[in-house]
Amino acid sequence: MTKSVQARVARMLHHRKAALEQGDPVVPPITASATFHLPHVQAGGQIYGRNGNPSWDAVEAQLALLEEAEVVSFPSGMAAIAAALFATLRSGDRLVIPSDGYYVTRVLSDGFLRTLGVEVTQIATSAYATADFTGAAVVYLETPSNPGLEVVDIAGVASRARAAGARVIADNTTMTPLLQQPLDLGCDLVVASDTKAPAGHSDVLFGHVAGRDPAMIGRVRDWRRMAGAIPGPFEAFLVHRGLETLELRLERMCASAAVIAGRLSAHQSVRRLRYPGLAGDASHWAVGGQMANGGFLIGFELADAAAAEGFLARCPLIEQSTSFGGTHSAGERRARWGDMVPEGFIRLSVGVEPVEVLWTAIADALADQGMPATL
Ligand code: PLP
Repeated sequence: MTKSVQARVARMLHHRKAALEQGDPVVPPITASATFHLPHVQAGGQIYGRNGNPSWDAVEAQLALLEEAEVVSFPSGMAAIAAALFATLRSGDRLVIPSDGYYVTRVLSDGFLRTLGVEVTQIATSAYATADFTGAAVVYLETPSNPGLEVVDIAGVASRARAAGARVIADNTTMTPLLQQPLDLGCDLVVASDTKAPAGHSDVLFGHVAGRDPAMIGRVRDWRRMAGAIPGPFEAFLVHRGLETLELRLERMCASAAVIAGRLSAHQSVRRLRYPGLAGDASHWAVGGQMANGGFLIGFELADAAAAEGFLARCPLIEQSTSFGGTHSAGERRARWGDMVPEGFIRLSVGVEPVEVLWTAIADALADQGMPATL
């Protein structure tokens, strides 16, 4: 993590200090109110619970420091993605999205935007490097992609897309603003699911859009108010708390992922492992550049669906769930959702378990084809 990002983290931890008065709570209160005292409309302050809420303000202030941008929060990553797309596209526009990124973004684009007259072009993440963006209104990228962990050269793609007249939106979910800063690399908007590592405890859904163009972010804010896709104050509180330990958790998760990826890649049952942090990985060129490190996600294949399901069921330290970025290591066979990956492909999200205990559980589950592994 660069010194400038470390400084952003430190500022985030103390973001409330300057405004605190004697006796104020250090931790932001959960403001559960749909209405606010409003004798005068133009006098400032909160208006109505769909327009704003002090609990959102607190988490948006943290994210704004991390992104060095204006931030609008949402009740999920998909709500943030929908807002960014609906705020930037109109009928007749062309949208470029990855064919191998998070599948719900594709389903949203095909199922809703296309029917409203947006032309949707899907290209593989690996093809962004050479794609022709002529005629595109929005180029949407996801890097490293979920689940294949393919990487886009963000600065290169952003500069070619902008030269072609397109706006660039980056889904930064797999990295978080601590490990990668797409706005610094020329993107117009960042979208992210804070359900993952930022909240970090698998107990809340949340998302945000960040941007530095006041008009563009203003349209995103208008979308939230008019569509009514607003986060709850308790959810905002949980994400605020999660963000305070994001750097610490990422440090453990990414260091452990590097160890486990190295050992898994040498294991006889494991094929085609992807981890950008490994020297031989096709995405390794980006690590130390646009990516601060290799992240906490690993992709790898076992022989077939049965071998992958058996491994996941046997390993006591891998939750069989469909998310990532939480404190618990979690894994799943992505082909079960129809992702274009081999049947035995597993996406593993490395958690905060002590790494040697985690590795022993993984190695035992790989070795023992019959018995449930024990600790
Ligand atoms: N973007 C990526 C890369 C994701 O992996 C996900 C969820 O898995 C989302 C967006 C959507 O986030 P949420 O589940 O918070 O709506």
